[in-house]
Amino acid sequence: MENIKTVNIQTLTVKSSVYCGDGAFCALVPDLIKGQNVFLITDSNVNAIYAELINSTFGSAAKYVIPAGEKSKNERQLLKILKAMVAAGLRRNSTVVALGGGVVGDMAGLAASLYMRGIKIIQVPTTLLAQVDSSVGGKTAIDLCGVKNIIGSFYQPQTVVADPMFLATLPKREIRCGLGEIIKTGCLNADIYHELKAAKNLKDIDFLKDITYDCIKHKAYVVTEDERETSGLRSTLNLGHTTGHAFELYYKNKSHGEFVLAGMYYELYIAVKSGICAPQYADEIIKLIKKVIKIPAYEDAEKACLLSKYDKKNEDAEIAMVVPQTEGVTAKIKLPPAEYAALIAKCARSLKESN
Ligand code: NAD
Repeated sequence: MENIKTVNIQTLTVKSSVYCGDGAFCALVPDLIKGQNVFLITDSNVNAIYAELINSTFGSAAKYVIPAGEKSKNERQLLKILKAMVAAGLRRNSTVVALGGGVVGDMAGLAASLYMRGIKIIQVPTTLLAQVDSSVGGKTAIDLCGVKNIIGSFYQPQTVVADPMFLATLPKREIRCGLGEIIKTGCLNADIYHELKAAKNLKDIDFLKDITYDCIKHKAYVVTEDERETSGLRSTLNLGHTTGHAFELYYKNKSHGEFVLAGMYYELYIAVKSGICAPQYADEIIKLIKKVIKIPAYEDAEKACLLSKYDKKNEDAEIAMVVPQTEGVTAKIKLPPAEYAALIAKCARSLKESN
C-alpha cells in the first residue's frame, strides 16, 4: 500500500477519493466492490486484454461491453447501456464500475448519473489520458449531432483507482494521447511544466507514474474550487480543446489527446500573433508538443476549425479559447469566427512552408 497515493476531492455535494500507484487495482477494487451489486462497463479491447483479471475480480457481476473507440460515444450506445442496467435489475444502492479509457468513463458516468437519477460509480481508468484527466472531476458526456460532449452531466465518482499496471498494454499512440493532456496541464501548472522540461524521456514509465499523480493533484484542486466551471478556473482545463475538438470532429483520424496537442499548437499561433504569449515561451511549449506528435499542416484547416462554432465554451457568436500566457498562467481569447479561421489557415500555411 505504500506505493498508493491518495488525493481527495471535496465539492459542494460529494467527497471522492482518487487512489493512484502500482498495485492500486488489486489492493483496493476487490474491497470496494465486496458485497455490492456491481454493474461493470468496459470496452471490447479492455475486455479482451484483461479477461482473466475481470473474471477473477468481478466474477458473475453483470457486464456491458462497449465497442472500443470514440464512435461509440453516442446516444444509441448510451441507451443500450441503460437498458442493460434495467435488465440487470440494478437498484439505488448498486455500483457501476467503469473499467477503460475516457470513452468508457464518460459514458458509464453519464449512465450512472441517469439511472434512478444517480447511482454510485467507481472509475478505474486504463489509459494514460483517463488516469491523468478524464476519470477525475466528474464530467460525463456523449457526442450528439456531430458536436462533441454536448450531452452530459457533472457527476462525481465515489472513487477513482488509477493503477499504472494498465499502461503496460497500452499502444504507443495512446501514450502520446495521454501526453497531450499532460502537456496541457503543464501549461496550467508551472511545477508540472518544469518537470516536463526537465524530463529526458517523456514516455518513460517512471516519469509517467510521477507526473500522473501531479496531474491528478492539479485537477483535484481545480475541481474542488470550481466543480461546475462557474468561476473560470475549471475552464482553463479546456486549453487547446476549442480547435482540438473541431479538428477531432472534422478529421477523425487521430486520438483525442493528439488533437488537443494540434489544437494547442494552432491556438499558440493565435496567442503569439495577438501579443498574449511571448514567442519564446510559445517556442518552449511547441518543443514539448513536437516531442510527442508531428504537427499536421492541415490543407482545409480553415473549414475544419469552424466546427468550433458549436463549442460549449462559446458564450456568444465569437469563438472562445484558453491559451498559455506565461508559466502557469492562461488567458482567454474571443474572436469572430472569420478572424479566427483566417488565423488558423495562416498557421497551417506557415507550418506547411516550414515542413
Ligand atoms: P479511449 O477510451 O477510446 O481509449 C483509447 C483506446 O485504448 C481504445 O481503443 C481502448 O480500447 C484502448 N485501451 C484502453 N485501455 C487500454 C489498455 N490498458 N491497454 C490497451 N488498450 C487499452 O480514449 P481515451 O484517450 O482514454 O479517452 C478519450 C475520451 O475521453 C474522449 O472521448 C474525450 O472526449 C474524453 N475526455 C473526457 C474528459 C472528462 O473530463 N470527462 C477529459 C478528457 C477527455
